[in-house]
Amino acid sequence: MKLQNPELLRSRCLINGEWCEAQSGKREAVINPATGEELITVPLISAEETQQAISAAQQAQIGWKQLTAKQRSALLLAWANNIMAAQEDLAQLMTAEQGKPLAEARGEVAYAASFITWFAEEAKRVDGAVLQAPLASQRLVVVKQPIGVCAAITPWNFPAAMITRKAAPALAAGCTMIVKPAEQTPLTALALAKLAQDAGIPAGVLQVVTGEAAQVGKVLCDSPVVRKLSFTGSTEVGRILMAQCAPTIKKLSLELGGNAPVIVFDDANLDAAVAGIMASKFRNSGQTCVCANRIYVQDSIYDRLVEKLVAAVEQLKVGDGTQEGITQGPLIDQGAVEKVQSHIDDALIKGAHIATGGQPHALGRTFFQPTVVTGVTQQMSFAKEETFGPVAPLFRFHDEAEAIAMANDTEFGLAAYLFTQNAARQWRVPEALEYGMVGINTGLISNEVAPFGGVKQSGLGREGSRYGIEEYLELKYLCIDVS
Ligand code: ADP
Repeated sequence: MKLQNPELLRSRCLINGEWCEAQSGKREAVINPATGEELITVPLISAEETQQAISAAQQAQIGWKQLTAKQRSALLLAWANNIMAAQEDLAQLMTAEQGKPLAEARGEVAYAASFITWFAEEAKRVDGAVLQAPLASQRLVVVKQPIGVCAAITPWNFPAAMITRKAAPALAAGCTMIVKPAEQTPLTALALAKLAQDAGIPAGVLQVVTGEAAQVGKVLCDSPVVRKLSFTGSTEVGRILMAQCAPTIKKLSLELGGNAPVIVFDDANLDAAVAGIMASKFRNSGQTCVCANRIYVQDSIYDRLVEKLVAAVEQLKVGDGTQEGITQGPLIDQGAVEKVQSHIDDALIKGAHIATGGQPHALGRTFFQPTVVTGVTQQMSFAKEETFGPVAPLFRFHDEAEAIAMANDTEFGLAAYLFTQNAARQWRVPEALEYGMVGINTGLISNEVAPFGGVKQSGLGREGSRYGIEEYLELKYLCIDVS
């Protein structure tokens, strides 16, 4: 990995403006999933050191919230500009630690910066209200204030964007933030922190701590100083964190697992449907929470769709994401491969068929063949759990009511997709789907302008968009007697 700015490869945490070691000296390796090579080690900080970061965030918030929105906005824009100037280096770091193809990594860096730019603008639009009082002697005013110290625990699948989608609105609102990145991908997080520091964001406003997840997480959850936790990750860990935040009645944003259905109706443009499925299913090798997980295809077009999808999947190029033309990097770790394999095995035992792929890739490690499975039913693991890998399972349905019932038959409710050219159906079906986001004739729905989030056990709250900053603001009501 060759960086234009070698300063962006950090091996220490950023606490209170200082690049810190763990006092215990404990460190953890960061591994390149494409090669197995150890890239660097990062500190495993203790509970006491996490506590120091919390105190620094509390101290820093006093000055940060007193800046004008315009001043905070200018600092955020400087950070976003630094990120875009370092786009190539950040992409190299991301591909090295996460595995996604460089083109996707570059795209993610731009996507990550877009949240900062967006919330730098939104910072200036945090307006209150004057209400009509029921008494002539009263004036009623609502002001919005930053919640205070916030913490973010983020996943490995989007090592940059999941941080900026939380940190940017927090900082814009006048909150300070401590980020605990995923253990697999701390390097992108630390580089983002360095670029924030270089932009002039003051010490303690944005801190990045690396450490043993459960231990650091517990300190962040238990602290009464931390007023808000924003988490993106599995539903299982989300439940643990929610329970740990109960004693301090902490505000929570949770972006948890998905189990996204794609419904392809017989009136769809099949080429558009295949393009949408490819974009939604195989991006990041199937490792996104909005990835198509269950593809429901109407009877009369099933065989034609299988044929077209298999042809598209067979064009994918698996390999090291740094190499030209690669579209599918490795999966994040061996556990991910085992999960994919177990879902395929379960389906085959229950009567499904492999249309293409189905095996670990000849490249070894955690590379997996892009796969299409046909004859999948609601009784199989594919229907119940997120596969988080490059496997497209195709289910069959007869009519619209059945498709909606099958799509909603899950505890998750993040993203859903449908393909149809019938305008009435384009309204009717999304309204009946129990999901926070619905893509209609598209497989790509995420951007900084739209509210991202789920219903049911996919989480709480929304990120991005003009709604996203509200998650970091409290309403305060002032009642003034003017008599
Ligand atoms: P995945 O299974 O995709 O890795 P996780 O939910 O396990 O998703 O991880 C998402 C984030 O949550 C990571 O930063 C991870 O370190 C963190 N994490 C995992 N377990 C805990 C825990 N018990 N407490 C706090 N954070 C945790």
